[in-house]
Order: sequence, then structure tokens, then C-alpha cells
Amino acid sequence: MMRLLNVTLVKGTIALGVGLMSANSSSAADLELGLPIVCKLGEDCFVQNYVDIDPGSEVQTATCFRAGYDGHKGTDFRVLDTAETADVVASAPGVVRGVRDEMPDRLVVSEQDRQRVADKECGNGVVIAHGGGWETQYCHLRQGSLAVSGGDRVERGQKLGQVGYSGFAAFPHVHLSVRKDGKTVDPFLGSFDQAGPRLTRCNEGTSETLSYDQPLWQGDIEPLLADAEGTIIQSGFADGPVKSLDLEQGLASQPESRSPALVFFARLINLQKGDRVTLRVEGPEGILAESEGEPVERQKAQWVAFAGRKLRSATWPAGDYTGTVTLVRNGEVFRQKTSRFALDG
Ligand SMILES: [Zn+2]
Repeated sequence: MMRLLNVTLVKGTIALGVGLMSANSSSAADLELGLPIVCKLGEDCFVQNYVDIDPGSEVQTATCFRAGYDGHKGTDFRVLDTAETADVVASAPGVVRGVRDEMPDRLVVSEQDRQRVADKECGNGVVIAHGGGWETQYCHLRQGSLAVSGGDRVERGQKLGQVGYSGFAAFPHVHLSVRKDGKTVDPFLGSFDQAGPRLTRCNEGTSETLSYDQPLWQGDIEPLLADAEGTIIQSGFADGPVKSLDLEQGLASQPESRSPALVFFARLINLQKGDRVTLRVEGPEGILAESEGEPVERQKAQWVAFAGRKLRSATWPAGDYTGTVTLVRNGEVFRQKTSRFALDG
């Protein structure tokens, strides 16, 4: 009942790949990772959390932006809400070591929920062995979506299942862990040995542009790093005040001409202390609502802001409505997003 990943070990020795690695550490070519999810990064999926490289009780991540939480051992790629489906795919070729597919998709919102998934935090998942001591693990997949079994040989990009929210998941996402010889490796840093020096660098408060000498990711890593600094993941309209949990489940309803309220909302991730989120809503008859926002008091993994008005006449005026959200950092526009919708008369 409380077993860990339902690991089906492949009989015999797993011999994979070519070229034996020398004993004196890893090279950049050890393992190359593609994205573990099929989506448009920065549009319909985002990197919410990174690996915590601080071995103590503090949090630090390779970007020095602390976009993670204590003890986090992977990279979290989130989708907007639980109604969205996206394929989870193998980041590198290998052999499936084990799968689990029997846990329900249920967002963790309370301590009770958390206890419910104790020792099974990964939820439905897949572990793939890549040879040379490398392993990747994919967590929180949608129940019933698993497309591979223990012992299967998989290629990079091959479907493993669908993104979900089983196990310890407060939002729908796939968590990718990378391990070498059982030790967590931050795929941005590329080897276990890089974590200590990077932590020192972050703690020194360096203002230099950080370099990533041996990332495991294939291609340009900039798009993968952008979300760590804070970004607007969604904006839209609703017919009343919105709650974070409703948005996680895609439950905001678009206003209609007789809706009791008309609200513009925005969701942001990885805000820094002092950031401000301003909102401006315009309708056919001019400005409907405006909010300057208060500076956030501390780092925020997720943030929901909204502004709007109650209905004061029989119907809302027909025409175009526009909402603009701005993330203001150090007094300057850091990110901005505009949403529009039209109300028929
Ligand atoms: Zn995670």
C-alpha cells in the first residue's frame, strides 16, 4: 500500500549507450536532455520551480533567484490548469526502470492532503535509466495516462504519459529529477560538483551575469531560465472575484452582459520582494477599474491579482474590454500582458 515507485527491475545488467565514463567526473556529453513536456514554453507551460542547491534549510537555485522550495530535487514544468492536457515525454533515451499509475489526480491544498501522499510524493511516475549511472524521473502524471511499462526501451521525445497532479502537487505539472549515481544533479549546472560553487556565488550576491558552462539541456537554455525571474503566466476576465484554486482548475467564467461583476485577473509566478502588480481595465465607456498594487512583502511562488467592478445598471455596455497587467520591478516595467474580450449587445 505504502510502497514507493512500483519499480519493475529489468532482469540482468542494464547496458546502455556507448563510451564508458572515466571515473574522474562527468563531461557535458554525459546526458543530453530534451524538454520532458510537449508545450510552448512561456505560452502554455512555465518553469515554476528549480532544484534547491542549498543542502541546509535555506533555498537557493542555480539562477540565484530562489525559485524553488527547501529540499526540491527537480525542475517543475507547470501548465495553466488541471483542464489542460500535455504529453510528458522522455528527456533522453533509455530503459524504463519502473512506473506507477494508480494514484488519483488531486491538488494538495492542506496538511491532510499532504499526509495522504506521504511517501508517494511523486504520484504517478516513470523512472528511466540512461546508462553511466544517469537516471531521470518524471512525477505527478495523470492517472491512467501511462504509456510505458518497466523494461521498455524509450527514445528521447517518446510519450510516457500526460501531465497531471497526482502525488504532492499543488498545481498541474511534471517534475523532472535527474540523478547520477543516485545523487541529484541540477540539469542547469550539469554535475553534482557545480552546486557548491554556485551556492557560494549566489550567497555572495554577485551582480555578474551567471554562466552555465555544462547544462544538460539541449539547445538554448535562456527560455528555461526566464521564468525564474518572475513572469505573468495568464490574464483574463471573470464574472466575479477569482481564487487561486479556481484558476488552477480552470474555473473562471467569462463575464456576460448581466453578470453581477466584471473582473480582470492575472496570475504570476516567482515574484521578488518589492515587486508590484498593476492592473488596468477598460471598457467601451472608458476605464472600469485600476489598481496600483502593493509591493509584495517577500518572494512569492504564485500570485493572483484582480480588479473590477460590480454591475450598476441592467447590463454591461456592449463592445470591447481590455485588461492590462504590468509587473513593475525597481520602478520599471518588467513584464506586461494584455487581454481582450468582446461583449455582444
Ligand atoms: Zn517538483
